[in-house]
Amino acid sequence: MVVALKEHEDRTSAYHTAIAQFNRAVQYLDIPDDLQDYLRYPRREFTVNFPVRRDNGRAEMFTGYRVHHNTVLGPSKGGIRFTLGVTLDEIRALAMWMTWKCALVNLPYGGAKGGVVVDPKSLSMGELERLSRRYASELIPLISPHSDIPAPDMGTNPQVMAWIMDTYSMTVGYSVPAIVTGKPINIGGSEGRIVATGLGVIISMMEALRRHGRTSPADIRVVVQGFGNVGSSAAAYAQENGFTVVGVSDVGGGIYKADGLDIDMVKSTVAETGSVMHYPGADQVTNEELLVLPCDVLIPAALEGQITQKNADQIQATLIVEGANGPTTPEADDILNDRGVLLIPDILANAGGVVVSYFEWVQDLQSFFWDEDEVFRQLRRIMVRGYDFTLRIAEEHDIDMRTAAQVGSIKRVADAVQTRGFYP
Ligand code: NAD
Repeated sequence: MVVALKEHEDRTSAYHTAIAQFNRAVQYLDIPDDLQDYLRYPRREFTVNFPVRRDNGRAEMFTGYRVHHNTVLGPSKGGIRFTLGVTLDEIRALAMWMTWKCALVNLPYGGAKGGVVVDPKSLSMGELERLSRRYASELIPLISPHSDIPAPDMGTNPQVMAWIMDTYSMTVGYSVPAIVTGKPINIGGSEGRIVATGLGVIISMMEALRRHGRTSPADIRVVVQGFGNVGSSAAAYAQENGFTVVGVSDVGGGIYKADGLDIDMVKSTVAETGSVMHYPGADQVTNEELLVLPCDVLIPAALEGQITQKNADQIQATLIVEGANGPTTPEADDILNDRGVLLIPDILANAGGVVVSYFEWVQDLQSFFWDEDEVFRQLRRIMVRGYDFTLRIAEEHDIDMRTAAQVGSIKRVADAVQTRGFYP
């Protein structure tokens, strides 16, 4: 997508990263040029500008997006983020990664993403509800259980999904639980969805360590950047499995304790004070310092563009497991590969969220609900299958895990396009 690449010359731009990764991976595939080009383009890009009434009575304008990257394998699936950093460039990249992620773990979905430029913490509950509902109603032409199914991402949560589900249901006149995933359980959400992404990250981490003979968890020090949905559950599952979590952070900064943090206590500190920074008895570090702390495993679980050519050579971890989407730039990938750092890429490592979202959608469509054991058993099966699939490609071509994951998923989508043919 030549035009878009010229527009986005920022080397940490998420879309630059997504296209650079794609270009690297397609070299290992025999895909015609026109099909490659087709796969670089998002299918639809939707921008909405809409008013939300603030509590002071004034209406304020907000901008939101929804992008469908590719829908060849099924309805598009992807989260909605509410952050000030949302741009169309970022949403495009995230939609493209969703296409590859769903294909990699063999879900019958295409890729989408959405977002609104807003700091949800600056809104009252009432304002957040009005913003969520108005954005959902603006998306009505695009979303349905059979065309595009949103889910939570940064800055959104099960309550926001409940408002979107209610808005859609009131519009069509009957209840449609399958319109979103990541809903509260009492309105059709799935057991295990809240922790699924973090648990999937730890399943991937343990697969990587096991295959490298690192089987003594207490000796393995883990650092997690971001302590939201993904980071806090990854840290909790790491600790539950006997690993020593020595550092965590949030937007305000990080904390480090060489002999290990108590993750339950970090969670209660966040619940009481709003930040990990008030945890007693730990050293305070900046987010930049956190990434280069002495540790064995680094889990970036906050946002894109964190590991770059500026810090990749200082990272001490020998294993990086990407909880966030797009945390590593292509330039940093090269440095890490040269240094022999093993990286388990986002589209594999954080696929647990969309896998359990898929389970939720299936349960809603069938109105038949599973217990948590069944959800986790199936999640583990799919995560390990995705890991094996990626590793096989990496070994076959002698390439890194990110490129292998992209090769495997791009091939699945390209094969499906060739089977279906270009319309008309
Ligand atoms: P969240 O909003 O629940 O948490 C985000 C965390 O990152 C918070 O702790 C926040 O304080 C922190 N943060 C924000 N800006 C930061 C900064 N500049 N430096 C350090 N920390 C910062 O979001 P989430 O749902 O946990 O998503 C985190 C990442 O995981 C995103 O990249 C998202 O796309 C990805 N992801 C999420 C899911 C999911 O199921 N929620 C699934 C797959 C991937």
